[in-house]
Amino acid sequence: MTTVEALACERCGRRYAPDDVEYTCPEHDGVAGILDVRYDYEALRERAADALAGPTEDLWTYEPLLPVDGDPVRLGAGGTDLLDAPALGDALGVDARVKNETTNPTGSNKDRGSAVVVSRARQQGHDVVACASTGNAAASLAGYAARAGLDCRIFVPADLPEAKAVQPRLYGATVLGVDGTYADAYELCREVSAERGWYNRNAAMNPYAVEGKRTLGFELAEQAPDADWVVMPMGNGCSLAGAWKGLRDFERMGLLDDAPRMLGVQAEGATAIYDRFVAESEDTDAEPVDAARVADGGERSSGEADETTADSIDVSVPHNAGKACRALRESDGDAVVVSDAEILDAQRLLGECEGVFAEPASAAAVAGVRTARDRGTVESGERVVVVATGTGLKDTASARQAVDDVIAVDAAGEGLPDDI
Ligand SMILES: *Cc1c(COP(=O)(O)O)cnc(C)c1O
Ligand SMILES: [Zn+2]
Repeated sequence: MTTVEALACERCGRRYAPDDVEYTCPEHDGVAGILDVRYDYEALRERAADALAGPTEDLWTYEPLLPVDGDPVRLGAGGTDLLDAPALGDALGVDARVKNETTNPTGSNKDRGSAVVVSRARQQGHDVVACASTGNAAASLAGYAARAGLDCRIFVPADLPEAKAVQPRLYGATVLGVDGTYADAYELCREVSAERGWYNRNAAMNPYAVEGKRTLGFELAEQAPDADWVVMPMGNGCSLAGAWKGLRDFERMGLLDDAPRMLGVQAEGATAIYDRFVAESEDTDAEPVDAARVADGGERSSGEADETTADSIDVSVPHNAGKACRALRESDGDAVVVSDAEILDAQRLLGECEGVFAEPASAAAVAGVRTARDRGTVESGERVVVVATGTGLKDTASARQAVDDVIAVDAAGEGLPDDI
C-alpha cells in the first residue's frame, strides 16, 4: 500500500481515487486538467522515520514516501552530491552550493521521474512506455525501460542535439523524429499512445513523474536545511514544482524548519511560465494563461523551433506552469529571464569555478542568480543552492561557443605559447 490518498485536479479541484483515472482530469479538454498526487500525511509522517534512518543511497531510500508499491527499478538515480562552490559564490556574490544532478545515470534530473514512472508501468503490467521529450526525458525513460525489460517509444523534435538522439536508441528505444516542435511531438505522442495502449510518461500529464522529482526536494531538505534560495531552470515547470513539493512535504512533516525560496529561471526564447507568474503577481484576478488552450487554439505558433540554445527549456507551451507558479508563490520566490549569451557565460563559469560541466538549460540557473542579484531579489551573501540539472556532454556543439580554441602545437612543441 502506498500513502496516496487521491489525485486532485489542479484546475477544478475534483478528487479521484488513484485507480479511477490514469492521466488527466476527464472534465476538461486535452491535458488541461493536470492532476496532483495527494498523500495521507499522517501515514507519510510515520513512514518518514524509516526512510530517514540511514544514509541516502539513491532515490529509493525514500521509497516509503513514493507512490510505488515495492519492486522498484534501480539504475542509481538520486543521492547526488551537494557541492560547496566557493569560487562560484565569489563570482556571484552569494554563498553558493551546487546540487549536481549531472551524475544521474542517464545524465539528468529526469531519471528521478523515470524511475518512479517505469516502476509503476512494470507493476501495472504495461509492455510499452512512451514519451515526448526535448531529449533528456527520452534518454531517461529509455534507460529505465531497458532496465525494466519494457519496450520504449520516443517522440522528439527532429532538430535535437545529436547525442540526445543517439542515447535513447542505444538503450534500445524506437525514436521518432517529429518534423516540428516539442509541442507537436507531445500531442502526437499523446494520440498514438492512447490508440496503441502505450503507457505515457509525457511531462505533467503523467502525474507520477513529478512525484519522483519530489525526491530532489527531500535531498535538499536533508543536505541544505539552511538554504535561503534554491535556483532551478524551468521548461515545463515539472522539475521546480516537484522539488518544491518535496521541500514542502518535509516542512509539513516537521522535518524542515524553514523551506527555502524558489527562484525559477527561463531563457529569453521561451518565457511562458515567467510571463504567467508576472501576470498573476500583478493582477490577482487575471485569467491564468492556459497551456492546453494555447496549444489547441494556436495562439502561439507551434512552428517556432529553436528559440534558445538551452534546448531542455525550449518549451513554448509549458504543461505544468500552474504548479510551477504556485511553487514560486508559496515559497515567496521569484522568476527571472536570461539571454543565451548569459547562459553560455554561466556555463563556462560553472565549469571553470567548480568542475561541473552542465548543459545550457542548467547553466541558465547560474545566470539567473546573477540577474536576481542585479535586481536585488537575491541579496549579497545569501545561501543559494543552484541545481545543475543535466550534463553538458550531450551537447558539445553549444558548449563549443563558450570555450577557447584548441592551441595547435607540432610534435616538437612548436607553437607552444610562452605565457601559459
Ligand atoms: C527537463 C529539464 C529542465 C527543465 O525541467 P522542466 O520540468 O521541464 O521545467 C531543465 N534542465 C534539464 C537538464 C532538463 O532536462
Ligand atoms: Zn478537473
